[in-house]
Amino acid sequence: MRRRILSIACGISLFFASAAFAAPKSLVRVGGLSPAQISHLATEGYDIPKTGHGFAELVLEGPQIEAFAKKGHSIKVLVRDLDEYVKKVKQTQTKNSAYYTYATMIKKLNEWVEKYPDICRLESIGKSCEDRDIWALKISDNPGKNEPEPAALLMGAHHAREWPSIEVPMATAKKLLEEYNGDPEITRLVNEREIWIVPMVNPDGVTYSMEKSRMWRKNRRNNSGTYGVDLNRNYGYQWGNVGASNSGSSDTYHGTGPFSEPESCAMRDFVIREKFQASISYHTYSELILYPFGYGYNIPNPDQKIFVKMAGEMAKFNGYDPKNSAELYPAMGDSDDYFYGERKILCFTFELCSTFIPNASQIPTFNQLNVPAAIYLIDKAGTYGIVNPDGREEIVNNLSLDSSLRAITDIVELFGSEGNVAMRNEALKQLEKISLRTAGIVVEEIKSGNAEALDKVKAVPQASLAMSFIRNRVLFEDAHRSSQYRQDLIEKLKN
Ligand SMILES: [Zn+2]
Repeated sequence: MRRRILSIACGISLFFASAAFAAPKSLVRVGGLSPAQISHLATEGYDIPKTGHGFAELVLEGPQIEAFAKKGHSIKVLVRDLDEYVKKVKQTQTKNSAYYTYATMIKKLNEWVEKYPDICRLESIGKSCEDRDIWALKISDNPGKNEPEPAALLMGAHHAREWPSIEVPMATAKKLLEEYNGDPEITRLVNEREIWIVPMVNPDGVTYSMEKSRMWRKNRRNNSGTYGVDLNRNYGYQWGNVGASNSGSSDTYHGTGPFSEPESCAMRDFVIREKFQASISYHTYSELILYPFGYGYNIPNPDQKIFVKMAGEMAKFNGYDPKNSAELYPAMGDSDDYFYGERKILCFTFELCSTFIPNASQIPTFNQLNVPAAIYLIDKAGTYGIVNPDGREEIVNNLSLDSSLRAITDIVELFGSEGNVAMRNEALKQLEKISLRTAGIVVEEIKSGNAEALDKVKAVPQASLAMSFIRNRVLFEDAHRSSQYRQDLIEKLKN
């Protein structure tokens, strides 16, 4: 692609020809584009961080800009030389505010494991093309055990140069670890979730992007003459060439086949093993929260309403736009289409920030906007089991009273007025199971003469189904075998 355009451009303009030799990559807003033209651009191999009404922001080299201009498109150069821009960003780093490198990430992860051994552990889930470990941090009580708790996953850096995507999962891990046993909500989540953080899915690409100061996006696969596969085009659900390129030199090259890359294979095997309920994959940029499907326009998603609702709730924290993934532009082989299409995970892609790599001084700001959204999803991972039925029976049977009441409230609020009959029925079934679990806990408490659990349920108006299960069971048993329950508690139930 690049070579072809270079030869066309040769001699057209001295300026662009000389620019071509230096080949600086620019960030350019190209206007006058139809939606069909935008979606075609990605298939042609262009790298498109942002789209909007009639425009796309593209990473282009000099002759490519010339070619768009010649076709009559409006051109606005946003960043003339992205390499220079990255160098400048690197200079904004200070001791206290710097982007994680592969080495500093590993150092921090190990510090945490040493400092919080009771609630986290570190595991390599596979190796990259260049033999680097892909590290995953598990945060949970009893981190060494695989407990029947809802599992949530946060991932960064499928794309190398999208450095903020490493920061947000790391900042979320930090909050969970530091506030455990301090903040009751965080403590509950760590106790009752299996939380996994994979801050750098593509360590080779990130290292290349940081050390060579290049706007590198892909992994570092040697394609015999060219380098790199776009890992977010390499997943095996609807893998193909819409929004992805067949050419090894392209920034959106999808690889030789689905899961041809060790990094995407590592993620696939990990996701199958852990049965995740919910996930976020972080990228930059555009300030978007995307949900599946992404491989084509208007592909029906049976759980669309849950995705829309959750994306909307998370957007309240960061002010981003929630959107169907294909609305950016359709692309085949991304992680979310596989996560939802194949594994039924409630999965989202966050396009962080308004540029690839903001100045380092912005790190605390974008973390502050996005960590609460991640915490929200980690909480919701435990609520439904409606999207992903895998393992949910066992999860429900192990819910604590607080978590089951939270789940009941959420289900009633989310689906109480659901118009889709199939979804409402599915939600109702789950509500029944969680209400039975709740009743089981409370009845045991009443038997031991403790009113606290009963009071908790009574205080939640959405828990009326659980309350009726409790009432029916206790009053029935009391009528047939008296003196099993304290009479003041029986009176409390009757009122
Ligand atoms: Zn990306």
